[in-house]
Amino acid sequence: MGDILIQATSLTKDYALDEGEIVRVLHGLDFTIESGEFLAIMGPSGSGKSTLMNLLGCLDTPSGGHYLLKGEDTAAMSPDQLASLRSRKIGFVFQGFNLLPRKSLIDNVALPLVYSGVPRVDRERIARAILEEVGLGDRLRHRPGQLSGGQQQRVAIARALVNKPSLILADEPTGNLDTKTSEDILALFDSLHQQGLTIILVTHEPDVARHADKILYLIDGRIDRLVVNAHAIQ
Ligand code: ADP
Ligand code: MG
Repeated sequence: MGDILIQATSLTKDYALDEGEIVRVLHGLDFTIESGEFLAIMGPSGSGKSTLMNLLGCLDTPSGGHYLLKGEDTAAMSPDQLASLRSRKIGFVFQGFNLLPRKSLIDNVALPLVYSGVPRVDRERIARAILEEVGLGDRLRHRPGQLSGGQQQRVAIARALVNKPSLILADEPTGNLDTKTSEDILALFDSLHQQGLTIILVTHEPDVARHADKILYLIDGRIDRLVVNAHAIQ
C-alpha cells in the first residue's frame, strides 16, 4: 500500500448512438486507487460499471478527463502502446470465463505469453506452474468444457496471472457460480491480494464485495459513495 496506482480525474465516457445522439455514461469521476488495494465496484445494472472497467483496463479511452496508470496518462497513448501496457500490467477475469473451447488448459493459459513473445518451451513451463498454483495441475490437457464452472474460472484467473500483472480487473467473476464455488474463487482473490496484487472487482452481491477493502458505489454514471471499511458491511 501507499503508492498511487490509478488516478482518475473528471473521467467521462460518452457513446454516440446510431441516430447521432450522444449519451454520457460516466459523468466526471474522481478517485484514486493505491497499489495493493482490493476495491469492489457496485451499482445497479446500467450504472456504468463495465464501462468504467473498460477504461481502467485500457480497452477503451475516456471521452474527457484523465486516467493515469502508474502516473502515465493513457489518453496520450497510441493503440499499440495501450495494448502493450495492457498485456504487461493488467489481467482480466470475466463472468463468462472467455476461454477457448478447443484448446487445452495449458494452451489457454499460455496464450497471453504468445502475444508477449515468450518462446514455446517457456510458455508451457510458466502456464503449468500457474495452473498448479490454482489447483489444476492434474488437468493440464483437459479442455474447458470438461471442467466445472469454478474450475473454468480458476483457469481464467491463471490466464490473467500469466504475464505477472500488477492489476487484476474482474467483472462479476462469480456471477455464474453457486455460493460455495464463489467462496472458493474469492479465497483465491484474497490470496492474490495478500501477495500484493491490486484487485478491482465488479459485483452485485454484498457477500462478494465484503472481501474488498473498499467499495465504490456507482449510480447513473456517478460515484454515489465510497465505503472504506468494506469488510464490515451488512
Ligand atoms: P453496468 O455494467 O453497470 O451494467 P454498462 O457500463 O454496461 O453498465 O452500461 C452503462 C450505460 O451505458 C448503459 O445505459 C448502457 O446502455 C450504455 N452503453 C454501454 N455500452 C454502450 C455502447 N457501446 N453504446 C451505447 N451505449 C452504451
Ligand atoms: Mg456490466
